[in-house]
Amino acid sequence: MTALMRVGQIEHNSLIYGPYSRTVVWTKGCDLACKGCWNKDLWPSVGGEIIEVKSIVDKAIDSGDEGITILGGEPLQQASSTLALIMNAQQRGLGVFLYTGYELKELDGDGLRCYQSSDIVVAGRYVEDQRDTNLRWRGSTNQIVEFKTDRYKEFEFSEGNEIQITIDEDGSLTILGYPDEALLQELLDRELSADAKGRIGPSSQPFSE
Ligand code: SF4
Repeated sequence: MTALMRVGQIEHNSLIYGPYSRTVVWTKGCDLACKGCWNKDLWPSVGGEIIEVKSIVDKAIDSGDEGITILGGEPLQQASSTLALIMNAQQRGLGVFLYTGYELKELDGDGLRCYQSSDIVVAGRYVEDQRDTNLRWRGSTNQIVEFKTDRYKEFEFSEGNEIQITIDEDGSLTILGYPDEALLQELLDRELSADAKGRIGPSSQPFSE
């Protein structure tokens, strides 16, 4: 059966959402409503684009990426689709990094299988009071990076903030990752047409809204 996923955005060749170069998939739909979430446009479980899981992996492979990172929205509110994406990606040689706003104790069924089968997991709600912009790959200190397989055993993990800035030919600016307010303001103060998407993982949103 063809597995489909509701997706808000996909970026290839990102260097900030896990080890090495990755295809990043922002799923659509989240009702966890973390205070301070910066991806509220991904909360509705309507809109976006319905995409065949296999084609997401096809494009990730074509892009030369080492793996995929799945975030949201909340990937486990489409658990069967996310599990299909994880399985398809791993069967075809890609690593999988999963963000979820759920904690392990909240999961069962396909959601639990997603958690258990991913190579790396960052889990738990974004907690605004525990926000820390010096963390790598996550936004609040309650969240822990779990390396669940040996795939990335050679990767040397260290804490540190990373952002990715892309300036298109028309001057539009796309910011991915974990910028602090001062840097974001500095960028926006430049007379560029800003499209500060600020996409980051579930429960990792750095900004108050
Ligand atoms: S931070 Fe993540 S889990 Fe929390 S509301 Fe936003 S998208 Fe959902």
